[in-house]
Amino acid sequence: MTERSPGFNTLAIHAGAQPDPTTGARATPIYQTTSYVFEDVDHAASLFGLQTFGNIYTRIGNPTCAVLEERIAALEGGTAGLATASGHAAQVLVMQALMMPGDEFVASKKLYGGSINQFNHSFKSFGWNVVWADPDDIPSFERAITPKTKAIFIESIANPGGVITDIEAVSKIAKKAGVPLIVDNTLATPYLCKPFDYGADVIVHSLTKFLGGHGNSVGGMIVDGGTFNWSREGRYPMLSEPRPEYQGIVLHETFGNFAFAIACRVLGLRDLGPALSPFNAFLILTGVETLPLRMQRHSDNAKAVAEWLSKQPGVAWVSYPGLASDKYYSLAQKYCPKGAGAVFTFGLKGGYEAGVKLVSNVQLFSHLANIGDTRSLIIHPASTTHRQLSDAQKVQAGAGPDVVRLSIGLEDKEDIIADLEQALNN
Ligand SMILES: *Cc1c(COP(=O)(O)O)cnc(C)c1O
Repeated sequence: MTERSPGFNTLAIHAGAQPDPTTGARATPIYQTTSYVFEDVDHAASLFGLQTFGNIYTRIGNPTCAVLEERIAALEGGTAGLATASGHAAQVLVMQALMMPGDEFVASKKLYGGSINQFNHSFKSFGWNVVWADPDDIPSFERAITPKTKAIFIESIANPGGVITDIEAVSKIAKKAGVPLIVDNTLATPYLCKPFDYGADVIVHSLTKFLGGHGNSVGGMIVDGGTFNWSREGRYPMLSEPRPEYQGIVLHETFGNFAFAIACRVLGLRDLGPALSPFNAFLILTGVETLPLRMQRHSDNAKAVAEWLSKQPGVAWVSYPGLASDKYYSLAQKYCPKGAGAVFTFGLKGGYEAGVKLVSNVQLFSHLANIGDTRSLIIHPASTTHRQLSDAQKVQAGAGPDVVRLSIGLEDKEDIIADLEQALNN
């Protein structure tokens, strides 16, 4: 028999998991423990010295979280994963492994609003300086590179506007500059888009959204692509310089193609501390088992809703890259051929008042600030998340008075459309 590698549906259920060796439990148990007993003094010493892999303390690693790490790494085609307490914590740990105070990174200016805040304010206070580039003008990434640039950060499908970034084109610029390309793959998930196939070096996720998928747990993940040369020109000292607290070992030399994930764990997670709870890892693992089924339904429903909305007299425009008329349609066909995801925006001819009326009238949709739930979700950014901005700033952020954002759930598409119809016409 020839060896075959398991398909995506199989990996979503099995990767990283085995029946529990002591009890035979088939579902991955929740290892709700802070710490682990050493076999003897030598075992303890080799764990602390990174000579043996094993559990010491749940801030640094936990067996339930380890199954989730292996599963997401397998789905993305990476070498190793690291679970974190939230998507934002994953972004902090990735940058902490790469940046020293005074360094720069280039980021797409079409990103999740929380990332724009994190980069503009908290990261600046660490001395990590973001330089913004425009995903609709790829050469702007190259123009933003300086000798201080340590990374490029983009989203595959950007939240919320349905912007698809040309990953391959940006990865060529990153390679030429000798810096890693980090892709936030939250909205697409590895079911719809595989950034490592197009030159990404590191992937980050908010597990809170479609990977967990049920709106019940916050979590994040870093996936190491295993492709980047961290030792080149001494630019990444955390990976290429001897570590005094680990008997002078050099992480890149010792751990090779999963050195980045190790650095984020044994330095970043150890010192900054945003570990995922094993209980959340358990819930998210249960969600991941049905990821392929859910993502296909999410995308198919979203496409049907976007098509219906684009024909309504009260709707000025629909920004969904799965529509043939959309400006990102050809990029969506290349990067997300199975579907363009479930989060998109549209504009109401009646402006601010119409937006407020719509979110007040919906019954099946939940009016809240999240995405990637089984339930359909709606928000009018101008009256909620972006209300403190001036009108000009709102438009600049893609949150003008007429803009409504949807995250389409797994209900019957006829029911989702009927709810929007009654809410638009009441
Ligand atoms: C939600 C989100 C994040 C942040 O994740 P948390 O789990 O909320 O910290 C980052 N990127 C994108 C695209 C998101 O949607």
